[in-house]
Amino acid sequence: MMQQSVIQKTLFSALLISLILGMATASPVFAGPKKKKSSAIKTVWRIPTSQRCVALTFDDGPKPEECTPLLNLLDTYGIRATFFVTGRESEAYPDLLRRISDSDHDIGNHTFNHLNLTKLKSEAVKDEIIKTNEIIYKITGKPTHYFRPPGCQINGRVSKIISQTGMQTILYDVNVVDYTGSDEKTIPTLDQILSQVRPGSIILLHNGGTQTLTNLPLLIEGLQKLGYQCVRLSDILAINHEQPSRHHRPL
Ligand SMILES: [Zn+2]
Repeated sequence: MMQQSVIQKTLFSALLISLILGMATASPVFAGPKKKKSSAIKTVWRIPTSQRCVALTFDDGPKPEECTPLLNLLDTYGIRATFFVTGRESEAYPDLLRRISDSDHDIGNHTFNHLNLTKLKSEAVKDEIIKTNEIIYKITGKPTHYFRPPGCQINGRVSKIISQTGMQTILYDVNVVDYTGSDEKTIPTLDQILSQVRPGSIILLHNGGTQTLTNLPLLIEGLQKLGYQCVRLSDILAINHEQPSRHHRPL
């Protein structure tokens, strides 16, 4: 009798655990982890670190023409980067998004329609974020926590909504200006770009920028000559996390 009671208890525990696990896995968190307070709103331009590493970030993909050569180029250099994709492009080219994910690059949310969020109603801003999170999760099986507003257009209201969805706003501190419509006067030289780079810099590029594929090898090699390693956002955040904070003494 005693043995039967132990078996029953074990079975009940196993059932309870599988129910809890089932609940946890059956409901992916499309809105990202919840922040405790709205005071957690933080926009990241650069991730200060003592390590000489930078994050290359590519917006607007996955573009059908440029994505594969870009991924091949990054593979050639053994570089892992971060792609801020739109829901619209991801839905249209799921195989490309899957390849980005399978190649171990970080994926961030760049809204569904690539509109100026400051001109949208709050509910529409939220929909743009959540819908894109859902598409990325459906295609890659991985949740995303990074968000970059189109054109980096943001205000206090939009910032608050982004934070409420649990996403981390990532902007940039170095702009390569590789997008369509840039005239020669606004395009910085390689030396000008390299002079702006600091440890933990977030470099803005585009998946589909007119000059991206041509100039990327020069940028990567220029960074490498200065001793910089190109990594994913999550890599810099992990290094940063390991370093003792200025405000806390290590135990
Ligand atoms: Zn964009």
